[in-house]
Amino acid sequence: MINFDQNATTPVDEAVLNELVRATREFDGNSSSGHSLGLKAGKFLEECRARVAKVLNARKPGEIVFTSGGTESDNAAINGMGWGMREKHGRTGIVTSAIEHRAVLAPCEWLGTQGFRVTVLPVDGNGRTRLDAARAAVNKDTALVSVMLANNEIGTIQPIAELARLAHDHGALIHTDAVQAAGKLELDVQKLDVDAMSLSAHKFYGPKGVGVLYLRDRTPYHTYMLGGTHENNRRAGTVAVPQIAALTVALELADKKRREKGDHLRALRDQLVREVLAKVPGAHLNGDLEHSTLNTASIRFDGVYGGFLLKRMDDAGILASAGSACMWERTKPSHVLNALGLTEEQGSGTIRFSLGYTNTAQEVTQVADTLARLVPALRSEPQPV
Ligand code: PLP
Repeated sequence: MINFDQNATTPVDEAVLNELVRATREFDGNSSSGHSLGLKAGKFLEECRARVAKVLNARKPGEIVFTSGGTESDNAAINGMGWGMREKHGRTGIVTSAIEHRAVLAPCEWLGTQGFRVTVLPVDGNGRTRLDAARAAVNKDTALVSVMLANNEIGTIQPIAELARLAHDHGALIHTDAVQAAGKLELDVQKLDVDAMSLSAHKFYGPKGVGVLYLRDRTPYHTYMLGGTHENNRRAGTVAVPQIAALTVALELADKKRREKGDHLRALRDQLVREVLAKVPGAHLNGDLEHSTLNTASIRFDGVYGGFLLKRMDDAGILASAGSACMWERTKPSHVLNALGLTEEQGSGTIRFSLGYTNTAQEVTQVADTLARLVPALRSEPQPV
């Protein structure tokens, strides 16, 4: 199989898997227990927290909250900071973008039913959040701005530092969903100047079911997950120390891969775009490569239904997707492609290619050659759009 669907999930790195097994054996205690087994796990947990804080350039290890993944981190940030700001400052404005993952849009929509005022910012044709619209939307009632660092479908990198300045100038908080940025972009919470950031290990060669919520010290936050006092009262639930150990190694490795092999991955992605556009007539790039994460290309094929093409590609041993994996069942173009201003036909003919550090130049050529064969053949068949 050629896996060009690595924004859906990444294969677990061998070193990460070994760490998961080692930590499961060695740190089997409950990190909250007061006896020696628990204390041993608790001490190791704090070591992991400090290592994660170092990669993210957090000011304090205590700013790292471990969660079950990206969806939980996003829900916790939006609910936690939204209610926290409302309780502390009476603010009820939530500002987000039209191309966020559902893990952000859905909690924002829910807050909208609870007396919050939600503004969804439009994006330009390349998928960049419109800063003029942000300037018009953020005001002294804004509690939180939540905009992703990199988009999962088209890879667009968002102007987070500018949005952070805007939010802070108005006394608001800013959260960024960086789930698709780890291993592809520098994740420096101080440079980005964000109050909260979400990460998910399975997007950077770690296991599923574990993530991070970076939460700046003293940020107004109403605990989302209620129960015990774990994670310094910010996330109840027995802490998954072995998974966190694996996440820690995965994050360190992803950061190293980005620095050492990021240019190579970008060159592979660029090669894919060049070869596909040259070999397949009626193929077009959505967005631009300049403002896109180094592994992602969204390409549309005129006169072809993407769902049919994906099936033929799968039969030929090539994995890709129409967009977010959570939207696999949908027949209509995603909200992200709609926000770019694509027509329904253009959106339906779009395929997301997301490469990873395991891919090769030979695979790229094989994919382009296969598409050059499959796309014209499909065009001669009836399409549902
Ligand atoms: N945010 C973005 C941008 C994503 O791409 C995803 C997963 O596809 C998520 C959030 C959800 O993360 P998780 O799968 O860890 O719940």
